[in-house]
Order: sequence, then C-alpha cells, then structure tokens
Amino acid sequence: MPRATKIVATLGPASSDPVVLERLIAAGVDVVRLNFSHGSAQDHIDRATLVRDIATRLGKPVALMADLQGPKIRVGKFAQGKVMLEPGAPFVLDAARTEPGDVNGVGLDYKELPRDVRAGDVLLLNDGLIVLTVERVQDERVHTVVTIGGELSNNKGINKQGGGLTAPALTAKDMEDIKTAMSFQCDYLAVSFPKSATDMEMARQLANVAGEPWRHKPAMIAKIERSEAIPQLEAILKASDGIMVARGDLAVEVGNAAVPGLQKRMIRMAREMDRVVITATQMMESMIQNPVPTRAEVSDVANAVLDGTDAVMLSAETAAGRYPVETVQHMAAIAEEAERTEDTRLDAQFSDRIYGRIDQSIAMGALFTAYHLGCKAIIALTESGSTPLWMSRHNIHVPIYGLTSQPVARGRMALFRNVRALLVPRYTDREQALAEAENLLVASGVLKPGDTYAITCGEPMGTPGGTNMLKVCRVG
Ligand code: PGA
Ligand code: MN
Repeated sequence: MPRATKIVATLGPASSDPVVLERLIAAGVDVVRLNFSHGSAQDHIDRATLVRDIATRLGKPVALMADLQGPKIRVGKFAQGKVMLEPGAPFVLDAARTEPGDVNGVGLDYKELPRDVRAGDVLLLNDGLIVLTVERVQDERVHTVVTIGGELSNNKGINKQGGGLTAPALTAKDMEDIKTAMSFQCDYLAVSFPKSATDMEMARQLANVAGEPWRHKPAMIAKIERSEAIPQLEAILKASDGIMVARGDLAVEVGNAAVPGLQKRMIRMAREMDRVVITATQMMESMIQNPVPTRAEVSDVANAVLDGTDAVMLSAETAAGRYPVETVQHMAAIAEEAERTEDTRLDAQFSDRIYGRIDQSIAMGALFTAYHLGCKAIIALTESGSTPLWMSRHNIHVPIYGLTSQPVARGRMALFRNVRALLVPRYTDREQALAEAENLLVASGVLKPGDTYAITCGEPMGTPGGTNMLKVCRVG
C-alpha cells in the first residue's frame, strides 16, 4: 500500500535551495506551502517556479499552497530589539507610541487593540509564552500587568484569550499577495484568521477575479485559528474547499487543552461535508534542532492520521530547521505505519447518508464494489477531481487513482487522502480511455494480470460532473 496521508511542507531558507527542495519532494512532500508572512512577492514566484520544475522532472504531482499572512496582530519594535518582562511588572501597549519600546511599554502594529480589550482581558504574546492581564484602557494605551514574563522581542504576535479582536481577515497586503499567488496559479489558497463564511467568500471572490487572466480558480482553505471560527465551523466549511487545523494560533486563543478535541471534531466535520483537512503546527517541532522526533511527536502525527486527516503539515521544521529532509522521511514513515493499524471497514456514514447526485452515487457505488470484491485499485477518470474526493472521504484502504487531463484537478487531488493523481491525455473515445487507464496502471506496477479493479467515467467523455458509469474489470 502506498502512503495515503499527504504531507504539506513549508518552504523557507532551509529548503529553497534546488538540491534540498528536490530531496524534500523525493522524500514525499505532496503539497508545498508558500508562507506569505515571510519573503517578497518575487521570492514566492521564484520558489513556485522551482517547485513546479522539480515536480515535473521527478514526475510527481506536487501542489502549491499559498498561505496569506492575515491580520497578524503584533507589538512594534524595541530600542534594544527585545526586553525582559518580569512577572508583576506593569507594561503598556500603546497604539499612539511612535518611539521604540522599552521595559515599560511598546507601540503596536495593530492600532485597534485599545478598542478591542477591557480590564480583566488576558493577552498572550509570542504564541502564549508571555501572558499580560489588562488592568485598564486609557485612550490609546492598554495598561497591563505581566502575569507570565519572559523575553519579548520585535514584532511578536498578540492573541486575546477567548478571541474578540476585530481585525478583518483580509488586509491590504493579503489582497496584493492574492494577485501574486494567482500569477503562478496556486492550487490552494489558505486564508488566515477567517471568522466567518463571509471572510472565505470574499477571499474566494478576490482570488477568482485575480485569476481571471489565466481562468484559474484556486481551492480555498480556511485556517481555523480564531475562537470565533469554532461556532461558525459548518458555515465556514460550506464556503471553503477545506480547512486547516491551525493549532498554533488556535491553541493560544482557546487554550491548549481544548485543541485535541477540536482537531478530532474538525477532521470529522470536514470529511462528512466532503471537504479536505490539514493538521498543522508543531507536529515535528523538535526536529527543527534534532535529527529524530520525540515520542510525543510520533504519537501526534500518528493520531492525526488515525483521526482521518488528509494531510499533516510541517512549518519551521522544513522552512528553517536543520533536518528538513529527515523530518519528511520520519513523518512519511510514521503515517504509513499508522495507516497499517487503521480500521478498513466502510464507515456507517457511508450507509446512513442519502446521495442524490448521479456522479456521487457512482462514486459510492465504486467504493462499495471495490470494498466487497477486494479490488486492488479504484480508477476515476475525472475532469474536476470530485469523484476521487467523494471516494476519499471513506476509508477502505483501496488506493484511488484520479486520472485527469486537467492540471487544476491534478493539483487539487495532491491533497486528497488516499488519492494519487495522474495526468493523462484527453480522450474522447470511452473504450480507448478505459484501455489506456488499465495500461497505465499495469505499466506503473499497480495492477498485475488477474487483479480486479473498479473504474468510473462519464459518457460522453470530458464533461465535468458527468461521471455516470462504473465498470469492474479483471486485468487479462
Ligand atoms: P501560521 O498558521 O503558521 O501561519 O501561524 C498555522 C497555525 O497558526 O497553526
Ligand atoms: Mn496561524
């Protein structure tokens, strides 16, 4: 069995060298994340080109995910670059302050903070490592007391416990970055800190407009990292193609202990709603420094796989770590082993649900048939990638091959759990398409004489959403 769970790796200084990047992709990266919180537009364009060149050379479908910075709410800069905050000391966050900060206070990138907080609120800085309690707000000044101290350096992020910061999800920079990302037709566009379905709809609209010269529409990923997004999860999922369990910011807002339960709920909901889901942040954190992961990290990756995530993500591990390639290799091995221990029965959800569409019913029929006949593979001839997506929401351990003539569909499928995307010529003759599909999988060693497989297609050929046939074949 090939690995079903996909790996998303973030590019950065540790991985932008062509040699390292090639080794990363060869080690199993399925989706490359370009983090627009760092680097210039040209950096991202160059990296996108490099990724596509290498992927083509290696014959591997690798998708590009552009991840927008969003309204990262930050403190300003310090005169000395950093200060040491002592517990019990007063500290002032001042939206009007223009001079660099010191041990008594600092300016703010985010000018709305004094309007968003009141006495008693808890502010978490630097991913929750520093905790400040608000004493009072006076005009542009937020007077706080240090609850948990530590070193605070330039431009560290601020979160409010429980949520409630009013910053809009899309900043002016994000809008520019969307244009950049569309210029290289990113497969996935990740939106940071959305609070509602409207945030996602707005981002999608902007992306579709920016993508018009290339007739490109990216798949939209909502990063779930704000308290306010949790009650809106169903609506956000509906408005998106997938979500990211963005545990970094989410943990700061809702509290660490709430995250594992939320992760499970988000993964379950995404799958039930035919959306994809990425589990992100600190999965292999210690490998930024060390050549092997901790036991806890091994368990974390394995458990995300068992929860049913489509993909596990690496951030600083591959962007800035000492062992980017080794991290991917370890992650791939952990995922494969976890998949082997997994239950492979058709889930109850499969039989409980009503499927009202022809293409979706055919997809479920293929899954049912492949499960009962013990097929070696399911092949979907697909224009949009929808049939493989529906099939991949249920886990029966029969690998799904999505054969498409559309590069966009191939890019999307790179993220779907248990789906391998293959680019094929566009056929108009059904018999020829079916024969070529079998030839391809035999030639690549997936199918052998005597193997049974299920194949779906649409007649007439080449109509998106037109899947209306299921055939079960034995390789002669
Ligand atoms: P980030 O998002 O890495 O862009 O902050 C992921 C997260 O918050 O977990
Ligand atoms: Mn985040």
